[in-house]
Amino acid sequence: MPRVSIIIPLYDEENNLQELYQRLKKVLDPLTLEDYEIILIDDGSSDGTWPIIQKFSETDPKVKGIKLSRNFGHQSALIAGMDHAEGDVLITMDGDLQHPPELIPQFLAKWQEGFDIVCAQRERTENISWIKNFFSKFFLFAFNKISFVRLKEGVADFRLISREVVGVLKTMKERCRFLRGLVSWVGFRSAYIVYTAPKRLSGKAKYSLRKSLFLALTGILSFSPQPLYWAGFLGLVVTFFSFIYIIYAIYLKLFTHSSLSGWASILISVLFLGGVQLITIGILGSYLAMVFEEVKGRPIYIVQKITYKNSKNWKEEVNG
Ligand code: UDP
Ligand code: MG
Repeated sequence: MPRVSIIIPLYDEENNLQELYQRLKKVLDPLTLEDYEIILIDDGSSDGTWPIIQKFSETDPKVKGIKLSRNFGHQSALIAGMDHAEGDVLITMDGDLQHPPELIPQFLAKWQEGFDIVCAQRERTENISWIKNFFSKFFLFAFNKISFVRLKEGVADFRLISREVVGVLKTMKERCRFLRGLVSWVGFRSAYIVYTAPKRLSGKAKYSLRKSLFLALTGILSFSPQPLYWAGFLGLVVTFFSFIYIIYAIYLKLFTHSSLSGWASILISVLFLGGVQLITIGILGSYLAMVFEEVKGRPIYIVQKITYKNSKNWKEEVNG
């Protein structure tokens, strides 16, 4: 059996940590693994998450704690964990127990069958707001329409990836990483395990609607240039209809006794054109913002502290 790294980003999860740790140990200890490590990433929590991680790492050499210097976001925290993991297989999961640790043996069984990527596919989530549900369905539809990468419904960041896939993911130097898309983009053999996600054990969801929308936007912008082409197409359509309108206006003037009049028609066209132009500029701007993020080349995360007891086997690295 391989060396396994479990990677868990945590943002204000003090009330979930104890049970998470106990359930992980209960699942991992009986497995005949060569070794395993539990990497707990504190993504700038303001509660007691970090002291608890420190306590675990002092008593358990299998726990590695990474404290980021501030809240960098779930995806960045995951990347921090992946950069510090040394297992043959990496399993990423949430820290609120919506990703049941009891699925880990099934992940490993699939890996042994020869799959490089094993994704958990959520069948039903209790307690998800209708607005989040609506946006996530709409995003999935839009993403699959405009990019050649396919995302499956209910597949999030609860997955196993093999060392080979991690190696490929690490060669991608982009700052704005939408991991779900990238894991699908790299190819390899994938398997899916269907599960029902329970309610979050304690606390509120840390992915606000704003954060979710931003992640969706990152996904679309980094996987498809199509909105840019659509902006151009929109311009063509508007020009076409304006042209017909011009011909109509000339016809009225030359061949009838009436003509187009009134400020209303002028106001409507000015507002309409203004709207179309602003949408187009907005699309252009979004891509420009992404290029801006990339060229600055700032680190994706900053590690403030690392804590673990057993430094013999597992090398220490700082910053990503
Ligand atoms: N998380 C994080 N940084 C953030 C937001 C979330 O590390 O800025 C962690 C959070 O602690 C949890 C996981 O990411 O372990 C998933 O977050 P959450 O449960 O709030 O997301 P949801 O279940 O609503 O998708
Ligand atoms: Mg959750």
